[in-house]
Parts: sequence; structure tokens; C-alpha cells
Amino acid sequence: MKKAVVLLSGGLDSTVTLYWAKNKGYQPYCLIFDYGQRHRREISSAIKIAKKINCKYHLLKFTLPWGGSTLLDKKTNLPQQKNAEEIGKNIPSTYVPARNTIFLSFALSYAEVIKAEAIFIGANALDYSGYPDCRPEYYTAFREVAKKGTKIGQEKKEIKIYTPLIRKTKAEIVKLGMKLKVPFALTWSCYAGGEPFRTEPFRVNPCGKCDSCLLRNKGFREVGIIDPLFL
Ligand SMILES: [Zn+2]
Repeated sequence: MKKAVVLLSGGLDSTVTLYWAKNKGYQPYCLIFDYGQRHRREISSAIKIAKKINCKYHLLKFTLPWGGSTLLDKKTNLPQQKNAEEIGKNIPSTYVPARNTIFLSFALSYAEVIKAEAIFIGANALDYSGYPDCRPEYYTAFREVAKKGTKIGQEKKEIKIYTPLIRKTKAEIVKLGMKLKVPFALTWSCYAGGEPFRTEPFRVNPCGKCDSCLLRNKGFREVGIIDPLFL
């Protein structure tokens, strides 16, 4: 079976991407990052999802001691928008400097060792926060890095980097997830986190005000279904 490394954050997009890769016949190997986010909730979601789909995963822990993002510093306030339409006009303070470059570097190393044919990442450049490392041109550039910077690339056996959601709206992502039977209730999007699953019912946790909540809510609203997180 062909192998793929999948970057799994525990959010909606990366989970749909994981199920997409599996549906395309790949054996997924997930990378989950504990990089000092302001909450652990998405990490426990990612682990539950990896276990549910029965795939091998690594949880990599590190910190970025220089910070540089409101996602890394609990003492700062997360930006809030009135509605999803305001999101993505400017790069917000939740941008984590060079995050996807860091993650993809780990993925590339892992893929080369296990001889994976592909790396999957759930980046999206439509209903998104305007992060530069989520845009198609970034992935075009990183594909060159994968070719030029690895032994396997020099042997002309390319590691493909797939971004199946990059040009989809959040509603299209939700619809795709429904088709792939993604366990939405296990996913976690809110930047503000929440209590562990066992102590709080889902419905009280997501803040409903951060970019990630607004975009998720927009997706489910446009499809016309209730987010299973709230059921
Ligand atoms: Zn939120």
C-alpha cells in the first residue's frame, strides 16, 4: 500500500484531508505537533482521530521560545471579528511565523525515511485567515524544496505534496467531509480551546468569536446542517 505523511492538527481541514488521503488509497502516517499552542484540546482531538482511523502517528513536542503569535501566548488576547467576511483581509496576530515550513520540514524528513510517496496538508486559501503559508504559490515553492533538498528528490523519485482543500470553500470542505464520513464531532477548531472532552459537554466550549470558530460556523451554516460538535 502506498504511504503518505499527513499533517494532523485535529481541526476540520486536516481531518477531512486525512480521510481524503485514506480514500485515495494511501496508508496515512500522521504527524501531530505540540508546539506550545495556547491549549491542548486540538492535540487530544488529533490523537483521537488518528486512533479512530487506526493509523500510525507521532506526536512531536517542541516550543518556539521566541513566540511571535497570539496562538502561542496566553497572556495576549485573540483577535475577534464580527463575521467571517472580515477574515483574511490582513494577516492576523494568530499567524505563527513560518509554521507550515516548520511542519512540512518534519513531514519531508519522515516521508523520506518511511519511503512515503506523498505528504498531505489541509491548507486552504479561500475561507482562511490570510496566512501566507496557506497559499498555492507557497506550495509550488515547497515542492521545489522537496525535490532539491532530499536524497529521494535527487534520485528523481519525487515526494508529492498535496493540498486537496486549497481552493475549496468551508462549505465545500464540510460537504466533502460528510461524503467521506469524517467524525466532525471529534474535531476541534476553536483557537481558545476548552476543557477536556470528559468534563465539559461540547456545546459550551467553542468561543464562537475567533477566526477559526467563525469560519467553521460559516461552513456548516452554508451547508445547512448543525455542526455535530454541538449535538
Ligand atoms: Zn473560537
